[in-house]
This record gives sequence, structure tokens and C-alpha cells, in this order.
Amino acid sequence: MKILVIGAGPAGLIFASQMKQAQPGWDISIVEKNTQEEVLGWGVVLPGRPPRHPANPLSYLEQPERLNPQYLEEFKLVHHDQPNLMSTGVTLCGVERRGLVQALRAKCVAAGIAISYETPPASQAQLEAEYDLVVVANGVNHKTLQLPPSLAPQIDFGRNKYIWYGTTQLFDQMNLVFRSNAQGMFIGHAYRYSDTMSTFVVECDEQAYARAELEMRSERDAAAYIAKVFEAELGGHALVSQPGQGWRNFMTLSRERACEGKFVLIGDALQSGHFSIGHGTTMAVVLALLLVKTLSADTDPVAALDNFNARALPLAHLFRDHANSSRLWFESVAERMELSNADLTASFDARRKDLPPLQDALMASLGYALGR
Ligand SMILES: Cc1cc2nc3c(=O)[nH]c(=O)nc-3n(C[C@H](O)[C@H](O)[C@H](O)COP(=O)(O)OP(=O)(O)OC[C@H]3O[C@@H](n4cnc5c(N)ncnc54)[C@H](O)[C@@H]3O)c2cc1C
Repeated sequence: MKILVIGAGPAGLIFASQMKQAQPGWDISIVEKNTQEEVLGWGVVLPGRPPRHPANPLSYLEQPERLNPQYLEEFKLVHHDQPNLMSTGVTLCGVERRGLVQALRAKCVAAGIAISYETPPASQAQLEAEYDLVVVANGVNHKTLQLPPSLAPQIDFGRNKYIWYGTTQLFDQMNLVFRSNAQGMFIGHAYRYSDTMSTFVVECDEQAYARAELEMRSERDAAAYIAKVFEAELGGHALVSQPGQGWRNFMTLSRERACEGKFVLIGDALQSGHFSIGHGTTMAVVLALLLVKTLSADTDPVAALDNFNARALPLAHLFRDHANSSRLWFESVAERMELSNADLTASFDARRKDLPPLQDALMASLGYALGR
């Protein structure tokens, strides 16, 4: 079986390394459009402690501790200048995204999987002629690849503006901070991901964005403005953005099919979800492992992909529903600003309660994928 994986992010890399382990004789290669150095984002939060938690991609590395993961067990919501501290109920693992991606790439290369960088996109016809299977793991970059029409994505943009900053301020908990000024309300999502850095994602509505003139400001000036809004949390530490990664509206990409012909989609390429539920990488891992399992379990690739489609789509759509509920809660949070800190926390906790639990669905899919 000759497989091309498009995209060297968590989904493509976990699929490639685990597929090679399951089928050492298969010819698997990866193409990545960016340079080896370009990796988007600062830190991400993952579930559990490696090496035991199978949804945590660090569990697939020989020495996960080399990435200096940070374990977080408490959650702090700040509203009306008051902190409300509680347990997260589970252990969360903050890790640098670049380090994680580079370590997963090194693992693939060590297993004999070639990764070529800065690769221009091939046409659908070229890919079909050259490969038995094309695993599309190109994230939300749907415009970079020509696919069969039945795999066309549905794209929705969130109403809030957000930006992904890093900072040298170290946060001991998962933090959700609401701060208002004359221009409007700003929300900070912050946690530590190494012993020197934290992620600090900021979002605000379009009105606050316009009144604060964030579009007109340089990257540095906008970061200084936001650092002033969150002065109490940042204690003089600066916010740093990645070059070219400015303010944007969150893009939710969904599909009605996970495969067609020789093409199959995993990770954000199948379903992306708002950062406020922090499960995007977990979904990438689970979908990658599900595809490994279905391809290993059936000698007929068509039947294997049908099985993958039937198992992956309900999970992807449940993830979409959870992520959208969470995004909508943040987009309408201004109407809850009169609530006390305790009531706002309760409302935050309840924002996805009407949906079937995502955690159970993820664990059921993982159980099938790992034969447990
Ligand atoms: C602000 C923010 C915060 C987040 N925080 C978290 C978090 O705390 N926890 C969490 O689990 N998730 C988080 N996520 C989501 C997480 O980053 C994604 O869900 C995850 O990276 C998806 O992995 P992926 O491999 O599917 O896609 P990606 O990581 O996007 O990887 C896709 C790869 O494909 C490459 N590519 C694109 N087009 C092509 C092409 N045509 N040819 C070759 N290569 C191509 C890209 O360059 C990229 O390297 C966050 C996302 C955002 C935006």
C-alpha cells in the first residue's frame, strides 16, 4: 500500500507513525507546505499524563518529559476583579506546540517515513495516479488542495475576534479572565506550557475590536494595548504574537463525508472546533488512530474507509456541536456580565451540558481504535 499524507501536523504525524508501526511494509510519506521551522501557535493543552493517556500525543513519544510538559489541575475564572479557583476535575497537560510537532516529525523520520517540506500541491489526478491512498491532514487550509466535490467543506466564521499570544508570565492554573474597559470587554484564556512560557489567547467582540482600533494598530502596539487590559494578570510581562498571525475570526470547517475514492480526511481537515474547548489535538489523535485501526482491520480499502467514515463522522459532528456551543457562549457573554463570579462560573460549566458527553464518545472511539 502506497500512502501519501498531506500535512505534517499532529493528525498526519500520529497517523503516519502509528500506521507504519501497524504495517511496517507499507510505503508511507508525508508532504508539508511550510518550511521545517514554521509551526503555528504557542502552547496547547492536552488530556492526561503521558505515557498512560492514549489521547495525549506525548504518549507516542519515547521521552515526553523532554518537552517539559506542565501539569495543570486547577481552573481559575476571574470576573469583577475576583478570582474563583476550583479543580479542573482532570489532569491537563500544557505543552509547546512547536516542540510537540517537531518531536512527532522526528519520530516519523526515525521510522523511515520521508517528510518533504515546502512541497507545492499536486493535482487531484496526479495524486490518484501515484498513490493507493491519500490521507488529507492539512488542517483548515482547505484552499490549498483540490479534492473531489463531495468532500467540499462547509465554512463558518465566529463573530468574535481572537489572537494567539505567548508570554513569559507563568500561570499556575488554567485561567479564564474577563476584563472590561471603556472600549468593551476582553477575554483572556491563559495557561503555562513550559517552565518559561504561557499561552495567552485573547478574544473580544467586533465592537470592542473597532473601538480599541486594534485593526489600525501595529502588531506591537496592539499587543501593548492588550497587555495593559490584562495588567493585573501579566504583571509587566509582554504579549508576543507570531509574525503574520494577527487578529482573526475563528474558522469552523465541517464536512459531510470523511472519504471519497482514494481520499480520506482526518484532524482539523475533517472538523475543526473552537479553541475554548481545547480538544482539537485530541480529536486529531483519535481520528488518526481510528483510521489506522480501520485500515489494519480490513484488507479491502474501500470497506475500511467506509467503516472509518461511519465511525468518524458522528464523533466529528459531536465535537463540532460542543465546540459551537462553547464558541456561542463566549460570543454572547456580554449579556452575562452582571452575574456574580459564582453564577458566571456555573453558566460557563453548563454551556455544553445539553449535548451528549464528548468525553464518553472520544473514549469509546479510542477503545475501538486500540482494541480495548
Ligand atoms: C488559538 C488556538 C488555540 C488552540 N488551543 C488548543 C489546545 O489548547 N488544545 C488542543 O487540543 N487544540 C488546540 N487548538 C486546536 C489545534 O491546534 C488543532 O486542532 C490541531 O492542530 C489540529 O491538528 P491537524 O494536524 O489536524 O492540523 P494542523 O495542526 O493545522 O496541521 C496541518 C498541517 O498541514 C499543513 N498543510 C496545509 N496545507 C497543506 C498542503 N496543501 N500540503 C501540505 N501541507 C499542508 C500545514 O502547514 C500544517 O503543518 C487550538 C487552535 C487555536 C487556533
